[in-house]
Amino acid sequence: MARFDAIIIGAGMSGMYQLIRLRELGMSVRVFEAGTGVGGTWYWNRYPGARFDSESYSYGFSFDPELLQEWSWSEHFAPQPETLRYLNRVAEKYDLQRDIQFNAEVKSAHFTGEGWRVTLADGTAHEARFLITAIGALSAHTLPRIEGIESFRGPSFHTARWPKEGVDFAGKRVAVIGTGATGVQTIQEVAKTAGHLTVFQRTPNWCTPLHNSKITEEEQARIKQSYPEIFARCAETYACFLHTADPRNTFDVSKEEREAFWEKLYASPGFGIWVGNFKDSYTNREANAELSAFIARKIRERVKDPSVAEMLIPKNHGFGTRRVPMETRYYEVYNQPNVELVDSKATPITRITPTGLSTTERDFAFDIIIYATGFDGLTGAFDRIDIRGRDGRSLREDWASGARTLVGMLAEGYPNMLMLLGPHTALGNIPRSIEYNVEWVTALLRHMQANGLAMAEARPEAVEGWMQHVLECSVGLLANEVDSWFTGVNKNVEGRQVRTLSRYSGSAPAYRARGEAIAAGGYAELLFTPACGSVSDPASSSVPA
Ligand code: NAP
Repeated sequence: MARFDAIIIGAGMSGMYQLIRLRELGMSVRVFEAGTGVGGTWYWNRYPGARFDSESYSYGFSFDPELLQEWSWSEHFAPQPETLRYLNRVAEKYDLQRDIQFNAEVKSAHFTGEGWRVTLADGTAHEARFLITAIGALSAHTLPRIEGIESFRGPSFHTARWPKEGVDFAGKRVAVIGTGATGVQTIQEVAKTAGHLTVFQRTPNWCTPLHNSKITEEEQARIKQSYPEIFARCAETYACFLHTADPRNTFDVSKEEREAFWEKLYASPGFGIWVGNFKDSYTNREANAELSAFIARKIRERVKDPSVAEMLIPKNHGFGTRRVPMETRYYEVYNQPNVELVDSKATPITRITPTGLSTTERDFAFDIIIYATGFDGLTGAFDRIDIRGRDGRSLREDWASGARTLVGMLAEGYPNMLMLLGPHTALGNIPRSIEYNVEWVTALLRHMQANGLAMAEARPEAVEGWMQHVLECSVGLLANEVDSWFTGVNKNVEGRQVRTLSRYSGSAPAYRARGEAIAAGGYAELLFTPACGSVSDPASSSVPA
């Protein structure tokens, strides 16, 4: 059996960066990755139109100034192939592949008393003192629970398992099921070439324009000079984007001023309209209703058929209380003669058939079915691995009614298991959160090395304290009243029908402040076991911070 200092599960952005940092600590590391290449989200999500909604230059890794100067993003919001190329370049530069085993799906990870035994789908087992999960917050993709799904005779794809060779839609009858951020990107792209596209929408989402564009040479030069300021800005905003909430409340200003502000945001690139809006937009019901009415007006202006426009306007949740999909002429797609929108709440899909699908109203024939049906968010990727901690306790069972963590990175009863982007990590602009998580974990490991500590585990009272903080941060958010992965709901997954406290909704600076306080206090929230065996209590011992 192969032994390492650390095993990392996943070679996406977090696994890649953690590998770089652990090598610096002189640790032997093996990364197990189910795919055949690095990139995680950007490796798997190859669906047409996939791109991120963070400004490209705020999204890349910030830790390597040389790489920042070398790499030129071509668009303000880069498409998936470019991001995957970027991540491959990082892997090449740091020669990451030599420590990564591809085609290696982890089935189980069991705590042995001295570390972790990880078993792969091929039956091989590997041991390490530390287990680092880098498995992503949105990686466990879910197909809909619809009868007959195996019976369809044509090609069908979940967007997160898109074929590398791509799919030709020309002249084809295509169905897209799902209208989240992924569905929206897919639909606006597929509509360009499909013979006929039918969109099955269960819940409409509030979508706003991305306003993407190419980066000019002058902009490129300016971006490369401004990286320190760009990352400093990300470090101070609520969700690590370049945008952050306006300090005013909605009704602090006149109706005219409000409208002018919203018009400006609607016409500006990126997430400004969502995360750069009045600060009470997602806590004050009246403010949210007014903002939602503004966006609804925009949808009505853009969609020619008023009955289709009404179908596209959410009625059960306000703007921004679910993840806002960013779009590029998405609403105009519904003005095309080759596109039809079906209300899957009014007429649910009853079964997938060999030639298409049936709803309660009629039968449809398709050549291709696309499932843009999302992910078992935040905890789903953990559930798919049989993770057993101290005394054989099961993480899946421990988290059955909601995850419990310390700063999203540690769990009680799972010594030396460290989670990157675990539940209750500040999310937002993901690479920024990843870099923070990796640096925090690295500092903890350095502390353990320096002090001869073999094992670290979250104290129960520290987990309780953190969970209390997570709860307090969520109080008053209108998003709490809405089903989505934000609130841990996925109708396609057993046990995910009710809302849970699965997400950290405080600010990224507040999140980092907690992390810093733990480190500065000598990790008193953790129980350590010294290399010789007995439990050490840093709160009362002389172990230096
Ligand atoms: P999602 O937001 O969870 O959307 C899934 C969609 O599938 C929803 O419209 C859902 O309807 C529908 N659906 C699921 N099961 C269904 C069924 N049985 N019948 C009919 N419809 C069904 O998933 P996603 O679009 O993949 O996005 C997930 C997250 O990934 C996003 O919120 C975002 O954070 C991230 N993402 C980011 C980007 C980007 O950066 N640009 C792009 C894509 C995704 P209901 O709403 O009714 O459940």
